[in-house]
Amino acid sequence: MNILTFDLEEWFHILKNPSTDNESSWGNFEYRLRKNLDRILELLDDSENIATFFCLGWVARKYPSIVEEISSLGHEIGSHSNAHQLIYRYDRKFFKKDLEVSIKSLEDITGKKVIAYRAPGFSLVADTMWVFEELIMQGIEFDCSIFLGNHSHGGRIKAFGLRPSIINVDGKKIKEFPVNSFKFFHKEVAFSGGGYFRFLPYQIIKRLMFSSGYIMTYFHPRDFDKGQPIIRDLSYYRLFKSYYGLSSSFPKAVKFLNDFDFVSLSHADKLVDWQRSQQFNLVDGQLKQINSI
Ligand SMILES: [Zn+2]
Repeated sequence: MNILTFDLEEWFHILKNPSTDNESSWGNFEYRLRKNLDRILELLDDSENIATFFCLGWVARKYPSIVEEISSLGHEIGSHSNAHQLIYRYDRKFFKKDLEVSIKSLEDITGKKVIAYRAPGFSLVADTMWVFEELIMQGIEFDCSIFLGNHSHGGRIKAFGLRPSIINVDGKKIKEFPVNSFKFFHKEVAFSGGGYFRFLPYQIIKRLMFSSGYIMTYFHPRDFDKGQPIIRDLSYYRLFKSYYGLSSSFPKAVKFLNDFDFVSLSHADKLVDWQRSQQFNLVDGQLKQINSI
């Protein structure tokens, strides 16, 4: 099962960086989302794939026609928060309001209920498991914020394993679809999205695809934009991670989407055998596994 997802944000929505991590500076940058997205939508049409787009509330208000178009083409719209902030940077009150605003901005445009969520930077970490309670309260049924491999802003949540799981919270449940990874020198390394997809040779990605039973992709429009301006105040390491492989990433994605079949999150939900999935209870902010699958 290969799940196709995109985080719908601009090229300058880069976290933990002074010139880009706050809404007050976003008006200074050139907008490139429309152009970048057109190519992606065309590729999805050509390769006959339906995806889930996790959109920022900010994007919905800035480009309502984009969100409307994605939804009218049959793709699923989820929330990627409102203001693209790391969860652990603010408190629970901020998270609640931010999620509320994002869901309302998206639902006002599409007229469809938002039931899927992905945290900015996969920043749902061990100390912020209360997020699941807030997500359930606001009608979210699927979460895709767990990153098993190393990630700059989160990740390394080992409890889940390489498959979807159910989290029970006070008699209600939410389904978790983590980002998959592979073992490389005892480390979990992702390959199905972002910088990892740009960095790894396609033949390796292809081989990993064939050997994996569950794939959760996570692309951004900027992953395919070789003309995007360079954010100069990033560290050398982050400059490499943000801009490596941009000239070959789109042709690589064309091959990827034509070589493999993908489904949206809601479609994947119907394919999972939930009776045999890992289950957790959320108790006092901690996950406790309740079965041994
Ligand atoms: Zn993001």
